[in-house]
Parts: sequence; C-alpha cells; structure tokens
Amino acid sequence: MITENILELRKSIPGNVCLVAVSKTKPASDILEAYQAGQRHFGENKVQELCDKQMLLSKDICWHLIGHLQTNKVKYIAPFIHLIHSVDSLKLLLEINKQAAKQNRTIAILLQFHIAQEETKFGLNLDEAIEILNSESFKNCENVAIQGVMGMASFVDNPEQIRKEFRTLKYYFDYLKNSFFATNLDFREVSMGMSGDYQLAIEEGSTLVRVGSSIFGGR
Ligand SMILES: *Cc1c(COP(=O)(O)O)cnc(C)c1O
Repeated sequence: MITENILELRKSIPGNVCLVAVSKTKPASDILEAYQAGQRHFGENKVQELCDKQMLLSKDICWHLIGHLQTNKVKYIAPFIHLIHSVDSLKLLLEINKQAAKQNRTIAILLQFHIAQEETKFGLNLDEAIEILNSESFKNCENVAIQGVMGMASFVDNPEQIRKEFRTLKYYFDYLKNSFFATNLDFREVSMGMSGDYQLAIEEGSTLVRVGSSIFGGR
C-alpha cells in the first residue's frame, strides 16, 4: 500500500511542493518501500529513532527533524540532517550553529511558530522571532541558514479555523521575508500541512507538506 499511497499523493501535490514522508514509529522496511517508490525526503520527530534509521538506510535520503529538539541532542544529527523544522529558541539556534561549525557544514533550519489554539504546542510568536533575528548573537551565526517557517494547525475538524491558522503562518513568512530576508533566496519555505489538512495548506501557500498516516497508515 505504501507505494500506491505515495503515487496517489504525488498526483494531488503540485511539483513545487516538497512531500516529506513522516515515518516516525514506522520500521525501516516501510521507509525502504517508500524509497523504492522514489521518495527521498523523510521526517522523524525523535533524535534517537532518526539516527538509528539514518544509519540503516541509504545515504542519499534527505532527513527532516520535525519534532521538538533538545539542545543536548543537536550533536547527534548535526553530521547529516537536511532540515530542522522545529527551531523555537535562540539558545537552540546557537547550539545548531556551533555543532554545524564543528562538522564544517551549514545546517538549514526553519523557525517554528505557534499557530494553534492549543496551549501545549511548541513554537514562537512573531515578536520572539523578530527578537532572535535582531540579536547580535544571531548575526554572528555563519553555519545556520534560515530557510523559512513551520507550524502545526489545531487538531480540530473546522477547516475554516485551520485555514485561518495557515494564513497566519504565511503572513509571518511574508513579514519576515520582507523585513529580514528580502534579498536572501534561501528563505523560501513554508512547512505546513499533514495528512488531514495538506490540501488546505497548499491552497494557503505551503511549500513543504509533512504527511505520515496517509502514506504509512495509522500509528
Ligand atoms: C506526526 C507529524 C506529522 C504527520 O502527521 P500525519 O497526521 O500522520 O500526517 C506532521 N508534522 C509533525 C510535526 C508531526 O509530528
């Protein structure tokens, strides 16, 4: 089914939107099947699980970290991570910069925003993001490349609520683009949309959809 699910999904996703297959809790054999269907971008939310799978699987996979990241774990993913979606503090950003420098590489990241109604989700508000981008310590970060923003909508059935939250995230993206990254072509990604709402997200300007259960089945 995984192969069919991926082929079906690709038909409904425009060519300029990257499909990140969220493989958390699923075995490496499932990832291999998706890989054989041509999928190269995979998302995980736990560092240990991500590292275990990275070691087992093909080195041309682009691994995305989509879950909360503790500063003391950055070093484990720094050698290979393709994109970290979940940067929500200056402290974490500085640690990523430090570990990236040690590896002689630049690590691409997204700023995670809180757009949902629920209290529990991680993420910045616009003022906090602006404060990070204006800080002296951020200006000295030469080994991180901020490529855009990420957010998770509320777990509700009301599509208009979800649409409103995606629109807010797109507004944050446009605001930061104009204020801080107007001439920076790397700042171009809006990571939003999961199995239940990726079509809405694409309508609202998503460039990266993170789809798990529609590919691999329920968890
Ligand atoms: C699990 C997860 C997804 C994928 O969710 P599905 O509903 O299974 O598509 C997307 N983004 C994040 C941050 C996740 O943790």
